[in-house]
Amino acid sequence: MSSSRHEHPELGPAELIEVADRVFAYIQPDGTWYINNTGFVAGRESVISVDACSTERRTRAYRERIASVTPAPVSVLINTHHHGDHTYGNFVFKPATIIGHENCRTELIEYGFPGNTGIWEPVEWGAVAVTPPNLTFTDRVRLWSDEYPVEVSYVGQAAHTSNDSLVWLPEQEVLFCGDLLFNGGTPFLLMGSVRGAIEVLESVVAPFPARVIVPGHGAPCDRDLIATVVGYLRFVLATAQKGIDAGLSPLELARQTDLGEYDGWLDRERIVGNLHRAYADLGAVDVVDLRGALADMVNFNGGQPLSCYA
Ligand SMILES: [Zn+2]
Repeated sequence: MSSSRHEHPELGPAELIEVADRVFAYIQPDGTWYINNTGFVAGRESVISVDACSTERRTRAYRERIASVTPAPVSVLINTHHHGDHTYGNFVFKPATIIGHENCRTELIEYGFPGNTGIWEPVEWGAVAVTPPNLTFTDRVRLWSDEYPVEVSYVGQAAHTSNDSLVWLPEQEVLFCGDLLFNGGTPFLLMGSVRGAIEVLESVVAPFPARVIVPGHGAPCDRDLIATVVGYLRFVLATAQKGIDAGLSPLELARQTDLGEYDGWLDRERIVGNLHRAYADLGAVDVVDLRGALADMVNFNGGQPLSCYA
């Protein structure tokens, strides 16, 4: 009855959008599993990139697009969080300095590169060699692209993951917010906190006077998307509370949940993982069984691996 499959005769080419002078967003359609956004600031002599892509092929294509704009090398790569779609391609940028939150390094090393696990449709990853940040921070760090500051800051608590970090360009009023926002896709909180993500979006992200926000997946947007995503997260928490009260498992609950206005968002099966996390946020379980939650997403998907076009 439920399927993550969606029509995709051919995914369009990645789009390079100059969101401010010398600041680019690299938007990969269609933004589903493992198809993320990146971006970069092209300084006169060096480039700062925000995130890598998932596969070797996608990351090399991204690097070529950077080279189409500037001959300068990527000297610094910032990881917004540890997820593989944003970090597996790190190795392509060696010997760039890779900046990330301390937990980003720890979690990327711990999760490693499991390859094709059966949860998602198999992907041609290329010669991925896990390459974690080699310059870590706990709170914030400020880089400079020529005379322009690039401010990297940890959001302060678990949200999408344990290590979400924002990249803010105050002069250009551009915010790269990683997977704290999905534009057109279902948010995914399994490795973070539903409740934490609401707090972070409302208290940490919303106050930035951003003219343009580059989300982790989907088209660049403005601050209106924050309230839209918070609406979904509140829906998840409210649904989870009903399921807990009714004694339902997250999978049983997901199967009988009407996603309503969120039904058309990509990767809708994420509701299952999100409910698993919400049960923990609400105190119904102590620890989230990550593998069990991923397996439940496959069950929800009719037993089929989740669609993945990376
Ligand atoms: Zn992510």
